[in-house]
Formats: sequence, structure tokens, C-alpha cells
Amino acid sequence: MAPPYLVNGETGPFEVVIGLEVHAQVISKSKLFSGASTAFGGAPNTRVSLVDAAMPGMLPVLNGECVRQAVRTGLALGCTINRRSRFDRKNYFYADLPAGYQISQYEAPIVGEGAVEIELEDGTRKAVGIERIHLEQDAGKSIHDLHPELSYVDLNRAGVALMEIVSKPDLRSPAEAGAYVTTLRAILRAIGSCDGNMQEGSLRADVNVSVRRPGAPFGTRCEIKNVNSIRFIQQAIAFEARRQVDLIEAGEAVVQETRLFDPERGETRPLRSKEDAHDYRYFPEPDLLPLVLDEAFIEACRASLPELPHARRRRYETELGLSPYVAGVLTADIEESLWFELLLAESAKRQGKPPREVAERAANWMTGDLFAALKRLDRTIADSPVTPAQGAELLALLADGTLSGPLAKQVFEIMLETGENPGVIAEARGLKQVTDTAALEAAVAAVLQANADKVAEYRAGKEKLFGFFVGQVMKASGGKASPALVNDLLKRALG
Ligand code: ADP
Ligand code: MG
Repeated sequence: MAPPYLVNGETGPFEVVIGLEVHAQVISKSKLFSGASTAFGGAPNTRVSLVDAAMPGMLPVLNGECVRQAVRTGLALGCTINRRSRFDRKNYFYADLPAGYQISQYEAPIVGEGAVEIELEDGTRKAVGIERIHLEQDAGKSIHDLHPELSYVDLNRAGVALMEIVSKPDLRSPAEAGAYVTTLRAILRAIGSCDGNMQEGSLRADVNVSVRRPGAPFGTRCEIKNVNSIRFIQQAIAFEARRQVDLIEAGEAVVQETRLFDPERGETRPLRSKEDAHDYRYFPEPDLLPLVLDEAFIEACRASLPELPHARRRRYETELGLSPYVAGVLTADIEESLWFELLLAESAKRQGKPPREVAERAANWMTGDLFAALKRLDRTIADSPVTPAQGAELLALLADGTLSGPLAKQVFEIMLETGENPGVIAEARGLKQVTDTAALEAAVAAVLQANADKVAEYRAGKEKLFGFFVGQVMKASGGKASPALVNDLLKRALG
């Protein structure tokens, strides 16, 4: 069990209670109720249909692909799918909401309860309940920092489909909240219902935080709006929990309100007092029929789901014999998993062995050398300078003895710079391992002759010197000698 995350006050410990409302932008070419494009980054107000601009008389038409993605997401999270759901109007005024209301789902969401299993760094597992997932439209964007007196509005995002994934208040620490968003994001990316890009705002969370004495009823919560990185979510929770504990300890009450997180100062600040549902005057959307799903549609959604990250992880452990840790690393992101599987297939082919026999080396190279290089170059697997086929060729050259470990590292560095194939690099730059026994015997003899004093010490019992001799022979060969062969020859010469 992970130790409980408690925030201590003067009068004892408090437990933190967290529930997340994650807004995930649905992957779909067009918006939830219009044909306008959802592509990120267009010039302002170029992806706006008459529906999105709320021109009088325009009618919404439900985008079937968004419904399909929400159902697939619900199924992947083990949720019940509601055969009948309904859209509601959520009324409020804001400059970036031209209709004066947002079409959402209130009482009858498309997806009901489910759960996500998370794993903490110490291996502790925990199921986090999902309350519901509903479909809704995104709003536009107000831009306040382009002009000293004016605000601008960009409606490109207005009407884009969001899934709001509401968790139960089951999370108890910043680490659990981080693991939950990480796991959720991995599942959404794996099934292709959301790209999970937090920097572009495709995935963001409203973070509800309250504190209580362990065992007491839930306390009053505050909701921190629109937090767009996992690190910020964790920082916001830590700050907010501390703030609430300090209030209670000072004899004051926590007031339910909406707050925002300021990443620069690492603090939350009040935004507005919490509005209640009745302030939104929710009512059934009169321009849309209730949404009724049939079994065949739901089954087709289920059949379209690929292998999910936790199943893939289990398969890497059982079928490929990878350690739980490495299997976890390689299944944290779908693009990395797919890259690994290409590397593995190509490695097996080149070495003429079953995947299980080449899996560990391939996994270690990828999670070690390759990931370190990507981090250093500030790249992701999607723009890796090395392809899976090139990685497999490098591993094959290592396996057949053409390259030693140190030479393979040298060749890899050159691959990163030039994009050339490892075989070509090894050939052209003379980086192949020297396995010519006669040549190495001569080098061994020369080293022993030049270090007669050390040879005497070694023979007198100073066995540590063996490594020194190996080093000298390697050096004499320009780092290209086969370390195994050098060991053998030295043992024979000294023995
Ligand atoms: P609303 O619609 O007003 O935002 P909900 O009841 O739908 O309220 O809850 C929103 C989120 O707040 C959910 O993720 C839920 O788990 C979380 N939540 C509810 N009560 C608490 C609480 N006391 N402390 C922390 N989170 C809470
Ligand atoms: Mg809310």
C-alpha cells in the first residue's frame, strides 16, 4: 500500500479528496453539430459554419462519428452505454459563445458508470470510478492579450465535440490524479478517440478538490478550471489542499467556488463563485431528437476497439517475457508500442529467431539508448531520426558479433546524426569489431611485453590488473577488438 497522502495542520492530518472532469476533444474531421473542420491551428474564424456562428434559424445536425467515438471510449473504460440519451441546452452568456448556450448532456448522458485501474510508482493498484461521459460542444476562444483595450474572439473551436469524462471523487493524492490522467490519456490515444495533446488543449481537466479529517464526510470542494498539464494538475491539488487546510485550521470555512491555477506562481486564485445547475437553466435541446442507440451499433463500436494498453502490457509480459516494468514503459504510449512492435518483428526476421528470443534486447535498447537519445534531442518517437528497421539492423549487427556494445553505441550516434543505415556506417568508417585472432594475439603480446612489470605483479597474485590489460589491448585496437576474444586471448597468454 502506498502511504496515505495527508496534509498536516496544527490540529492533525487531513485527507485530500479529488474528482476530475476531463474534457477530451473527440477525433473527428468535423464538429459535433456542423460540417466545419476541426483541424488545429487555422487562421482565426476560418473554421466556422453558420451553425457554429449561431446564425438565426440554423439547425444542429448530430455528427455520427462523434457519437461512435464516445461509445468506443465508454466501452474502453468499462462503462455502461445508455441506449437512450438526450441533449440539453446549458445557458450562459459569454463573448465566445455566440448562441448564448452550449449544447451538452445533463440528465441523460450517453455513457454511464465505469472504472479505470491506475498503478502508482510503487506498484499499488486502485480502481477509480467513472461517473459518466457526456458529449458537448466546445466554446470559442477570447483573446485578451493582442490589443491594449480590445478583446478578440476566435470561433474556430466553437462547436468542436468534447467528451466530458467525470470521475467519482475517488482520488486521494496528486500522484493518484497524475496516474489517472496518464492512464486515461493512454487509453484514449490507443483507441484513437482523442489525440491527448495537452499543450494544444485537446485534453484538459477541471480539478475538484476538498479536504476532510480521515473518516469524516466529504468537505466543501473548489473546482479549478481548465488545467492543461499533468504537472499543473498535481501542483494545483497540492496548493489547493494546503489552502483549504489552513482555512479550516484558522476557524474559517471553505467556500465552494471556481478557481484558476496560475502556473507561474504555482497557486490557485478565485475566478467566480460556483454557479448551481439552476443558474444554467438547463432544458432539453428542442432542435435535436433524443439519441437512441441500437445493439448492432454498440457491438460494431466494441468490435472496432484495438488492444488496450493494459492488455498489451500483460501480453508483453507473458508472450514476450518482458519485465512488468519494461512492459509498462513500452505500453504507456500507443505510438511507442507500435514502434516497438515494428522493431521486434524486424529483429526477429533479421536474426531468424522467434520474437520472444529477441524481445528483451530490443526492449532494453529502445527504452535505454533510443529513449535517452530522443530525450536529449527533444524529440518524440513520431519524429525519431532512426527507423524501426534501422534499429533492428543495429541489433542484428550486435547479435552476430559484427559490432561490440561500445561500437554499437558509436554507430548509433552516427545514425542519429546522419540517418544512414548502421551496416553502411560500420563498413564505411571501419567500425566493425576485430575478431581476427592472429592480429589480436599480436596486440596482446605487444601489450604484455610493454608492461612486463605489471605482468609480474599479476602473476604474483594482483588479479585486478586483468582489467588493465584488457583496456590496453582494446586501446591498441582503436576500440574495435572483440572484448570477448581479448579476454580469452589474455587469459591464455597470462595463464
Ligand atoms: P458539477 O456538475 O457541479 O461540477 P458534479 O457532482 O458533477 O458537480 O461533480 C463534479 C466533480 O466533482 C466530479 O468529478 C466529482 O467526483 C467531484 N466531486 C464531487 N464532490 C467532491 C468533493 N467533496 N471533493 C472533491 N471532489 C468532488
Ligand atoms: Mg463541473
